[in-house]
Amino acid sequence: MSDKLMDFDEAVERFDPVLGLEVHVELGTATKMFDAAPNQFGATPNSLTTPTSVGLPGALPVVNAKGVEYAIRIGLALNCSIAESCRFARKNYFYPDLAKDFQTSQFDEPIAYDGYLDVELEDGEIFRVPIERAHMEEDAGKNTHIGGADGRIEGAEYSLVDYNRAGVPLVEIVTRPIEGAGKRAPEVAAAYVRTLRDIFRAIGVSEARMERGNVRADVNVSLRESPDAPLGTRTETKNVNTFRSIEQHIRYEIQRQAAILADGGEIVQETRHGQADGTTAPGRVKSDADDYRYFPEPDLVPVAPSRQWVQEIAASLPEMPAAKRRRLKEAWGLSDEEMRDVVNAEALDLIEATALAGTSGQAARKWWMGELARYAKEQEQALTDLPVTPAQIAALQKMVDDGELTDKLARQVLAGVLAGEGDPAEVAAKRGLKVVSDDGALLEAVDAALAAQPDVADKIRAGKVAAAGAIVGAVMKATRGQADAKRVRELIMERVQG
Ligand code: ADP
Ligand code: MG
Repeated sequence: MSDKLMDFDEAVERFDPVLGLEVHVELGTATKMFDAAPNQFGATPNSLTTPTSVGLPGALPVVNAKGVEYAIRIGLALNCSIAESCRFARKNYFYPDLAKDFQTSQFDEPIAYDGYLDVELEDGEIFRVPIERAHMEEDAGKNTHIGGADGRIEGAEYSLVDYNRAGVPLVEIVTRPIEGAGKRAPEVAAAYVRTLRDIFRAIGVSEARMERGNVRADVNVSLRESPDAPLGTRTETKNVNTFRSIEQHIRYEIQRQAAILADGGEIVQETRHGQADGTTAPGRVKSDADDYRYFPEPDLVPVAPSRQWVQEIAASLPEMPAAKRRRLKEAWGLSDEEMRDVVNAEALDLIEATALAGTSGQAARKWWMGELARYAKEQEQALTDLPVTPAQIAALQKMVDDGELTDKLARQVLAGVLAGEGDPAEVAAKRGLKVVSDDGALLEAVDAALAAQPDVADKIRAGKVAAAGAIVGAVMKATRGQADAKRVRELIMERVQG
């Protein structure tokens, strides 16, 4: 069944989109939120469980203090108030990946509330996203449905359950309705989640790897006639985990809902599933009256973080990524576009580390965005995974600055470093790569080149200085690129004119 869609531009002309984003982030604690099982990705199924993670009768939970600390870090980074005291609650529902039949979560007493996040859009404009709450909860296990199409349960022959993820600490961040984004709603949503991802990494609470599902967004969309009309009925697309699909699904929902409303129809409040082609398909009909029978978790005491602890955590927070980008852009003298490329290539931290190891920001950028970016692309590797460190790049650049290497020789040295031959100095020594600036050796090569091309020598003598390029080239070739080109040119002039 294909949905009727209204053209996007027309849809946002006629209707005002409102968004709501619920972002889940898995915390990178050593152990799970309520038991001592390791919190790890990719282990043998069901090897990381305790009686608590699989909900055996009588097993009791204990709160992971690191999980609470990380939740507070997130709350503070999102400009939230931190509760003096808050409780966990049971959210009751049945699903095979939830062995206890309830998720330990927070309901009316989240650990963090009333915040906001400023999000920078492509054109540099800042959009403020209002945040209602950030609460602690646990992840469920993972169902794998075998034999159906697309891994869905419909049509599957059987299903497998892996409880390794059950009990992994999560923080869920819920926005207030995001109004005023207009036609930029898809971009605002993607930029918001990207900004969150960067913050999670910067404050050290999660590796925030989207491809592993460390960060997942539920995307609510509704339309209304005008910005002063009451909110319309929303749909919620679950578990979206790429920036591109966040944008696509929001665009699609805006177009789909607009077509229904324009025909006088009504939006059904439901959860929807994002499809690989960017469309969404209906899931279950959901009402606000969904009864999870939340009640305070009787097996856990309230969490009451002392004000002193909260202050200590606040004092330990690093500079936020947006502020850091602004500072480094200024310091390195990059244009908006250059900075955007650096950020998109995920090269900012590498360049910063290289610069801190003693080179200029511009030189560091040139290596990471030039030679190394090309190499990474060729190898289909991330820049961060290349077998070279910022310190090695800084050392390499220093050899160039000191006149020991030309740019060309430096690239050959880099190839050796990438091939695992050692640090730049070792590679240069082993491969015999260094600038020849010893006049004796250079003069020999210059004389040979002049003798081989007497016509060029005559031209230079006649005042055609540009002709010297051919001799420089010949000397470079003879010295395998190791000659100091500037010195060679001087020697040629001395020889010819002197
Ligand atoms: P649920 O339990 O159904 O997921 P939540 O209250 O946890 O509901 O989250 C709903 C999200 O959608 C929140 O971000 C909220 O601000 C947002 N939201 C609420 N009403 C609307 C609406 N009419 N249109 C768009 N977003 C909405
Ligand atoms: Mg929700």
